[in-house]
Amino acid sequence: MTGKRMKEEQDFNTWKKRKEEAERMKTRGAEAAPDALYHVFFAIRKNLKTTDGMPHLVNLYFMSNWHVEKYPDAAGVYGYGVIMINKDCYQEHGIDEHIINTMFHEMIHAYCDIKIPEKKIKDTEGGYHLPAFKEACERFGGICDYVNAESGYSDVRLSPEIMEKVRKELAKNKLV
Ligand SMILES: [Zn+2]
Repeated sequence: MTGKRMKEEQDFNTWKKRKEEAERMKTRGAEAAPDALYHVFFAIRKNLKTTDGMPHLVNLYFMSNWHVEKYPDAAGVYGYGVIMINKDCYQEHGIDEHIINTMFHEMIHAYCDIKIPEKKIKDTEGGYHLPAFKEACERFGGICDYVNAESGYSDVRLSPEIMEKVRKELAKNKLV
């Protein structure tokens, strides 16, 4: 097994362990997201500047109400191998750039959760949106801007070049 392949296996195992947590989320009212959102995940992953360290797969769910209350402006929230997408936002806008960028934002969390020690990203202002989060975003080809002290570096989007590739990819499946 090559070094790269072994690393991929390790990522996958980490993700598998967190699947348990995903199941727990389900019991809190989260429901499985439609296949269209998996297409978004893979279209993004395929077109990143690098896929090194990015989980190969995550569980996607629609967000339950308590998440909507907690994160009124966000379409998704990442937690323990799970990416949750706000159902209302998805149903209202379908797969638009907002949903795509939110998926990417949560994918950065997924990466950080595995690659960056928790202490480093937790015990500081700005929640998880610290300079390390911004760096992670940029290494995958995204753009990350500082919002405010509470939100930190949370304004995440794909570069216009990558966004165009992702949209083309999704168009092939008639999803945008
Ligand atoms: Zn975030």
